[in-house]
Amino acid sequence: MTDFATIRKEFPILDQRIHGHPLVYLDSAATAQKPQCVIDAEAEFYRTINAGVHRGAHELAARSTMAFEEARAKMARLVGANATEGGEEIVVTSGATAGLNLLATAFGNASLGRGGAAAKRFALKPGDEIVVSKAEHHSVLLPFQELAARTGAILKWFDLDDEGRIRSDSADEVITERTRIVAVTHVGNTTGAITDIAPIIRRAHEVGAVFVLDACQSVPHLKVDFHALDVDFAAWSAHKMYGPTGVGFLYGRRDLLEALPPANFGGSMVELAWMDQEAQYMEPPARFEAGTQPVAQVVAAGVAADWLMNIGMERLEAHEKTLTDELLKLGDIEGVRILGPRDNEHRIGTVAFEVDGVHPHDVGQFIDAQGIAIRVGHHCAQPVHRHFGVYASNRASSGVYNAVEDAQALVEAVKQVRPFFGVK
Ligand code: PMP
Repeated sequence: MTDFATIRKEFPILDQRIHGHPLVYLDSAATAQKPQCVIDAEAEFYRTINAGVHRGAHELAARSTMAFEEARAKMARLVGANATEGGEEIVVTSGATAGLNLLATAFGNASLGRGGAAAKRFALKPGDEIVVSKAEHHSVLLPFQELAARTGAILKWFDLDDEGRIRSDSADEVITERTRIVAVTHVGNTTGAITDIAPIIRRAHEVGAVFVLDACQSVPHLKVDFHALDVDFAAWSAHKMYGPTGVGFLYGRRDLLEALPPANFGGSMVELAWMDQEAQYMEPPARFEAGTQPVAQVVAAGVAADWLMNIGMERLEAHEKTLTDELLKLGDIEGVRILGPRDNEHRIGTVAFEVDGVHPHDVGQFIDAQGIAIRVGHHCAQPVHRHFGVYASNRASSGVYNAVEDAQALVEAVKQVRPFFGVK
């Protein structure tokens, strides 16, 4: 079994110096680096089978279609979704943001009466409720806030505890008989906290609401099984799971996808189109995949999914837990506060922190000068920062390629921040 030091060698980008220091990449929550097999898969596609999928009778089109659909099936296997032909539950998108907007738009279309009787289960009317949480990335908050504004629905949210965990224990009060949609994150992109989603899903289903999961920060780090979790929809991006940029996936339980009206319109999603009648749309997933697909990227994302399954998600989780142990030592430094759970239970190696008296941009620059890449800012999650009483933070986030020494290097660098800036 390949060890993690060997796995790290599969990432060519890591083998370089930044400002004279070996690169320490601790910004995988923003985007993960790519192993050579993923980089090669994209180039190999262009070298050998590049052609439009699902069209054309020629051999290359058949080969690219097969590779595209195989990648969809690999992704389905990674997340515990159905991969059998005709029962597919994975929709290709251009990223998590696109997937979440697709859903919100489709629910909005259902609210306008589109999609017929089957789509009624997604329709919202004034006074209905949409529930999110204060821990959401803006790509969950804003599409559903906009959907509420368009339909007259009321946006409600889960509060967070002192460590920024979603208060799942309040599910019975927050989710009511009027709630139609619940959308929350599986893992906070700032706090690194794993949401206890079971009570939320149970309550959502009890009142007949649709449950949407933002799986952006869970799929790359945890073993997820959407069937076992009883999730209705889930969105994530390939670029955070060691795959290419520009591509993402939306899981939908098959019967729900079949009932959902389309959100984007164009080529490759209709059976029949007329000048004077409504088009007859294809079955899912094609109904949601209007236009030419990012085929090379999807194929490479499938390679990334396979690559992760080969490592084994449980093994990866255990590896990242040792990194998290080390990163949490940031909280032992005087003047440093962790914005998220302090213990290593139910969290991943995404650790946001505040250095008292030093602006995150100054921290980031100081750290960068030592070859260490972390993220600074509000990480597209302003409400959670407000919850902690800050506007911005520093965020270190681990990946499969990090070694304990990387986390140690960061901790040592952060120790020097306040003395360097003369903060007492
Ligand atoms: N949700 C979470 C939790 C995220 O971390 C991100 C990426 N920062 C997104 C959604 C949006 O993903 P993308 O920008 O790839 O569409």
